[in-house]
Amino acid sequence: MTNGEVLEIAVECDGEAAEAVSELFNRFNGGGYLDDSEAGEASGGGAVIEATGFDDFGEPIEGEYRVVVRTYIKPGARGDEIRRKIEDGLWHLSQLYPIPDAKLRTVREEDWANAWKQFYKPMRIGRRIVLKPSWEEYVAQPDDIVVELDPGMAFGTGLHPSTRLCIAALEELVRPGDAVLDVGTGSGVLSVVAAKLGATHIVATDIDPTAVQVAAENVQVNGLAAADAPAHIEIRAGSIPAGTDGHFQVVVANILAEVLANLLDGTYGNVPLANPLAEGGRLIMAGIIEEKAYLVIDAGRRHGLALLDRKQESDWVALVMGREADA
Ligand code: SAH
Repeated sequence: MTNGEVLEIAVECDGEAAEAVSELFNRFNGGGYLDDSEAGEASGGGAVIEATGFDDFGEPIEGEYRVVVRTYIKPGARGDEIRRKIEDGLWHLSQLYPIPDAKLRTVREEDWANAWKQFYKPMRIGRRIVLKPSWEEYVAQPDDIVVELDPGMAFGTGLHPSTRLCIAALEELVRPGDAVLDVGTGSGVLSVVAAKLGATHIVATDIDPTAVQVAAENVQVNGLAAADAPAHIEIRAGSIPAGTDGHFQVVVANILAEVLANLLDGTYGNVPLANPLAEGGRLIMAGIIEEKAYLVIDAGRRHGLALLDRKQESDWVALVMGREADA
């Protein structure tokens, strides 16, 4: 590599692996490439996600839809170290996900610095929701609900099947005026969707400080931070808020089967996950690999919940539970 060139690492994968690969790139090569003025210091702009193959309505086209995650590394000793860590990390990931080998090439710095934005396109999820990056134009269809979402360092790009299943469930369950609790909000995507579906009071929590920050930005980008916004989204660091028993018509948690089972049981010393549900309320749980669904269903039943619906995309399921008494 000569001066003015950067190393590009690119991995083509499905939406599920894309989240994991992006996280790896953000972890080892994050920190804001464009703001870095120290010559020779390698610090990347994290992950750049290219999702292509959508039709004019934002629907993925079969056979054409693909996701490529890229990151760019400056030359130098630190760059070499970052590259080594990323290659190590990708190897570990490939033991969990079937991802093809990374492709490496050098590109001219000025060629990618702004070009990457062209790759992140509006994407339709569920029936009416369209996720779109803030810099993209999108001509909304009459019934569309457009959510602006910029890829940041928090989970929740809309590419993961679990996020999409949650959005589909929210579309069915959220009624105007509802109060919604979003546990593990990540990018804030589900809270913004709930607000656009008419929920008026939303509490979003996450134990990861980066998520809390990214969620706040996305809430603002969607015009939901203003005092006169139609919905109020309160973002809190933490997990299940105390003092909100019986308060929410919809509770959504897209985390992982084991974590959900523990949250239902209160194993972490937390308020049990079913407590915040209002009478007739619905609990949407996702991030669950099919084989582990029973862990969550059993835990729910231990706390008086009945299984009301189950949605699946590839190996991932989302469960909707409600109190046995109102099932
Ligand atoms: N809601 C987003 C992000 C899901 S990723 C979406 O649907 O796409 C799961 C998020 O849960 C992560 O941001 C992680 O930090 C958070 N998380 C993990 N364990 C948690 C817990 N016990 N309480 C609250 N949040 C948790």
